[in-house]
Amino acid sequence: MKVALVGIGKIARDQHIPAIAASEEWELAAAVSRHGRVEGVENFTDIETMLAARPDIPVVSLCLPPVPRFGPAEAALAAGRHVMLEKPPGATLAEVHALEAMAEARGLTLHATWHSRMAAGVAPARDWLASRRIIGARIVWREDVRKWHPGQDWVFEPGGMGVFDPGINALSILTAILPRPVHLTSAALQYPENRDTPIAAELAFSGNVTAEFDWRQEGPQTWDISVETDGGTLRLTDGGARLEIDGDEVGTRAALEGEYAGLYRRMAELVREGRRDVDLAPMVHVADALTLGRRRTVAAFSF
Ligand code: NAP
Repeated sequence: MKVALVGIGKIARDQHIPAIAASEEWELAAAVSRHGRVEGVENFTDIETMLAARPDIPVVSLCLPPVPRFGPAEAALAAGRHVMLEKPPGATLAEVHALEAMAEARGLTLHATWHSRMAAGVAPARDWLASRRIIGARIVWREDVRKWHPGQDWVFEPGGMGVFDPGINALSILTAILPRPVHLTSAALQYPENRDTPIAAELAFSGNVTAEFDWRQEGPQTWDISVETDGGTLRLTDGGARLEIDGDEVGTRAALEGEYAGLYRRMAELVREGRRDVDLAPMVHVADALTLGRRRTVAAFSF
């Protein structure tokens, strides 16, 4: 299946291009980017020109940040293309609902991807938890914004979501593995004095679930979720790549390994079956935290 990648930046280069190159199902047929280029394929600087010039490409994968993503997504659907959205799927919930309605009306696939849900431990964790009573859960997601978003000021601009940009990955796992949904009950958000989005957050949910997100961690990165149940304790570490139940390792991979291959396999399936996959549960928690959160101002941040 031919795919065009839009927004040739960090995630397109780190994950999408290698995952497409390694897949027998996919062929990278074009790239759209104002500054980036991909060798060996046709390059465009705007999506409208690509859509008009390449009716042979049925799928468009959008690797832009969330705020500038809606226009290109709408243009691709209007041109009859199936669309894959990076996470978070949009700048607002309403715009993603609008895209979903548009895709449905045209019989097109829209895939709001959550790469962390493809981590090796997530499906077995969900299966193990399905028959257990949950006593509580704790998320600790601490990473270095300078490593993962070097110089990307958009993460601190409105709609960039700040520390929820990685935190939403933890929430995408939580909402995939818990047998029953939880809802946010309080949030404390730390905003650098010179920025518009939080650099750290502490969240509390119903069901004795808590989360701590921080973007100021240097050195080893922490992406852990532990869930206590009536039948033992489950721990997902390395962003869901490692799973331990009561201290015994159940499965393991390197962090991020195989996640994007999984997303493209899923997209191929959805297109073949004429289906959509748009689960906004992780983003609802982020919107709720930004609605309910108590704001504290902390030291200025610069890259
Ligand atoms: P990025 O490198 O800053 O942006 C990707 C590309 O989008 C840029 O190279 C730029 O291409 C285009 N772009 C940026 N701002 C734009 C704007 N205002 N208007 C139009 N185009 C714009 O970001 P990224 O790290 O790849 O992240 C993109 C998405 O992937 C985000 O939603 C992020 O959450 C997700 N993601 C990132 C990571 C990571 O490790 N960084 C991991 C997983 C998922 P041109 O200027 O050439 O058009």
